[in-house]
Amino acid sequence: MLPAVRLISEAAELAARRHNGMARKGRGNEPYINHLAEVANLLATATDGADAELVAAGWLHDTIEDTDTTREELAERFSGRVASLVVECTDDMSLPKAERRRLQVVDAPKKSAGAKLIKIADKISNIGARIHPDPTAEERGDLVDYTGWAEQVVAGCRGGNPWLDTTFDNMVQRARASL
Ligand code: ZN
Repeated sequence: MLPAVRLISEAAELAARRHNGMARKGRGNEPYINHLAEVANLLATATDGADAELVAAGWLHDTIEDTDTTREELAERFSGRVASLVVECTDDMSLPKAERRRLQVVDAPKKSAGAKLIKIADKISNIGARIHPDPTAEERGDLVDYTGWAEQVVAGCRGGNPWLDTTFDNMVQRARASL
């Protein structure tokens, strides 16, 4: 396997290229890479840099779902574990949104320890992007809806990393305080 620093920098570069030109949902149409950097950095902080494959998977967690990247490619370029972590965080985009959301809640407790951490970091980042200083009615509704669902997913992912659990809870509090 690649040395830790290379694994993470290769993951960041591939993610930047594959998500090039995409904007994230929420505040200010930020470039998608901002979301990936945030998730990867939450994971690096949560584990104090102890798990390079997890941080690499954080950079890559949306590549299979949103770009033409395959499990095989990730396994070859990174590792089997990185590829598996990303697959675990990939929704079946052929299903309707409501069903994908329902499955995330049902499947969360069955995920690996690493995938649970990625899912919590993902939800922290996505709630944060939906907090607006002066929200419209639509933005309020989206934040309430997203946060309520994220809490259900995260309920099935908790317990592996107290710092990440607390960071999620603090973000939910910030979201509710912003309404
Ligand atoms: Zn994501």
